[in-house]
Amino acid sequence: MITACSKIVYKIYDFCSGLIYPNFCFYCKDFLQDKSIFCESCKDKIKPVVTTNLEVTNKYKVKVFSISEYKYPVKSLVLAKGGSDIVASRKLGELAWEMTYIKNVDFDFIVPIPLHWKRYAERGFNQAQEMANIISKNSGKPVVNLLKRVKSTQRQSELSPVGRALNVHDAFFLNLKQELKKNYECKKILIVDDLLTTGSTIKFATKVLIELKPESFTAIVACRVI
Ligand SMILES: [Zn+2]
Repeated sequence: MITACSKIVYKIYDFCSGLIYPNFCFYCKDFLQDKSIFCESCKDKIKPVVTTNLEVTNKYKVKVFSISEYKYPVKSLVLAKGGSDIVASRKLGELAWEMTYIKNVDFDFIVPIPLHWKRYAERGFNQAQEMANIISKNSGKPVVNLLKRVKSTQRQSELSPVGRALNVHDAFFLNLKQELKKNYECKKILIVDDLLTTGSTIKFATKVLIELKPESFTAIVACRVI
């Protein structure tokens, strides 16, 4: 009886909050009846991308999942970071959890690809970190900021494939005290980033994390540029 009453109360609450805070499709701005990110027609445009394997060393490969190609409607959420829309980045985390295989992947902790402090200061947040926080909330696995970006790199999208590799070479180091390393050894790591182009960023980040002798690497990105 109490459960039935609570359900009715929640439904009334949802209805009223929908009137006060109406929800719109993030891409086409159509009115939505519920708290979805996209309307059904925009959601239908999101096509799955074939999972790719990045070979980092003979021993380590990174399986990379992505929500979509770098196309609308998901692209609109990625680009919203330029307008300092932190909520859009969190929505990417929700979509990653809802629409990709990562909810079935076994991992111990989550490592977001960091921004250099200068770009972080410009934007006020890191899209990959926001996605990682949402994945953590859904999976119950912690986010550990094991990487630090030491080089203020150019935007990868502005460079040639060779330029991209050089750009992120030596861009990261392991942000962990020597005596704490053993706590993170032999684990399954999930790396999170917003975009995958040539894969150079994830490869170099992985090379740094190999120092922890992990069991495996998986990565999730919002969009893959194909
Ligand atoms: Zn729509």
